[in-house]
Amino acid sequence: MNILIINSGSSSIKYQLLNMPSAQIICAGIIERIGSIDAISSFTSNDHKIERTCTINNHREGLERITELLLDSEKGVIESTDNIDAIGHRVVHGGSTYTKTTLINDDVKKSIKKLSPLAPLHNPANLVGIEMAEAIFKNAQQVAVFDTAFHGTIPVKAKQYAIPLPLYDEKGVQAYGFHGTSHKYVSEKANAYLNNQKTNLIAIHLGNGCSITAIKNGKSIDHSMGFAPSNGLIMGTRSGDIDHSIIFYMVDNLGYSLSEINELLNKKSGMLGLTGYNDLRDIESQASNGNQKCMLALEMNAYRIKKYIGAYTAAMNGLDAIIFTAGIGENSSLMRKLVCQDMSHFNIVLDDAKNDLRAATIREVNTIDSKVKILVVPTNEELEIAQQVYQLLT
Ligand code: AMP
Repeated sequence: MNILIINSGSSSIKYQLLNMPSAQIICAGIIERIGSIDAISSFTSNDHKIERTCTINNHREGLERITELLLDSEKGVIESTDNIDAIGHRVVHGGSTYTKTTLINDDVKKSIKKLSPLAPLHNPANLVGIEMAEAIFKNAQQVAVFDTAFHGTIPVKAKQYAIPLPLYDEKGVQAYGFHGTSHKYVSEKANAYLNNQKTNLIAIHLGNGCSITAIKNGKSIDHSMGFAPSNGLIMGTRSGDIDHSIIFYMVDNLGYSLSEINELLNKKSGMLGLTGYNDLRDIESQASNGNQKCMLALEMNAYRIKKYIGAYTAAMNGLDAIIFTAGIGENSSLMRKLVCQDMSHFNIVLDDAKNDLRAATIREVNTIDSKVKILVVPTNEELEIAQQVYQLLT
């Protein structure tokens, strides 16, 4: 079965074509900076690599460009759009209704639209991706894989906020959780590695967005992102946890509007707000050259993660392994070191030499004596989506 995975973001479309169940990647690529005259389109297959700068005005044109590349008579990988059997769409917000991978129909599309106010940067773009794919790949089955789905098992005591009950009961104000596809994938890999399904795991996804999940016996039971993907850990441009009184103070005394604060907390805060840099590689290199702001920001970032590890160990009454994943979690030995140092009370002891080694597969970076395993697990959201689509359709 040829499954095309589409991850439609606010200004980008990532795609990957996989043959299932072999999980062979036929091609992969990304269109970035949609809406500009210098959008970048990249496409990689076994035999070809194409990168081009071109004008792509909207997602419709983006998906048309992807289709052209897939069908290209010389460098393409399929002969007809009918060669695509199914399309797996990453959809960020499925609310409390969609806790499973779902075949898309009109009702599902209406729900994704209705949930857009809860994920304004993502759900509208996801919906455009679905509608375009339906128009182009007419014979393919369209499936939605929701980022929130894995967190459907979080108990009410963890997902409800202590605000008047009707907001939860009637208006859907609650913690939903995000990055679910990644947390599910890496925790299953970790359980397979540990050869044990009855585990207490903490998965730490550190990429452009960052989140942490407590996973007991394979199920998410608590998670750092909440109502929207802005709560919790310090991220590239997002603040993570702050005291909400700051918002009222900024409105009442500092002359900010609510939309300015929204923009500030989501796009100008986090590591960018603290250091002037968003990419962790720049921050690490500045810190190593003595930039104190960058060093402090790294320490703040690690300190926040440590606090969540403590809280989630308490929530699960135990801990077998912590998992580092995504761009920072997989690649930054410094961030892993800062998080794991002085954690011997929790039986978390990092092996510095193992931590400094690089590898593209799952690996253990704790000392032999460390009771808690420290695992680096490369995430693969596309493969997880393809597996879920394949399972649903077969
Ligand atoms: P992701 O969202 O998973 O693609 O992660 C993107 C982030 O990973 C980038 O913003 C970088 O900060 C970070 N990153 C990627 N490679 C490295 C590296 N070698 N060292 C430190 N951080 C990295």
